[in-house]
Amino acid sequence: MAQYIIEATHTPAECQKTLDAVMLAGAHWLTNSQWGCMSGDHTAWIIVEADSDAEAQRLVPPPVRSKAKVVRLTRFTPEQIRAFASHAKS
Ligand SMILES: [Zn+2]
Repeated sequence: MAQYIIEATHTPAECQKTLDAVMLAGAHWLTNSQWGCMSGDHTAWIIVEADSDAEAQRLVPPPVRSKAKVVRLTRFTPEQIRAFASHAKS
């Protein structure tokens, strides 16, 4: 399983419709999503676990899917970062 961050934007006019869609998608979505709406940035973010990019896409509630950006996340170790740095120097 990999972790994916899903980022979905909407307009202020779509706010209610988007929130309704996420509420209908289930408690998991409402509990785990974070929203910028109250700060004037109409974007939602949620981190999910999925086996593939396609599965992560399918997890996005359909009304939001067309505007969603899905990115697989990687956690780096200090050793990996040092390896990148030594590669860049050579
Ligand atoms: Zn909003």
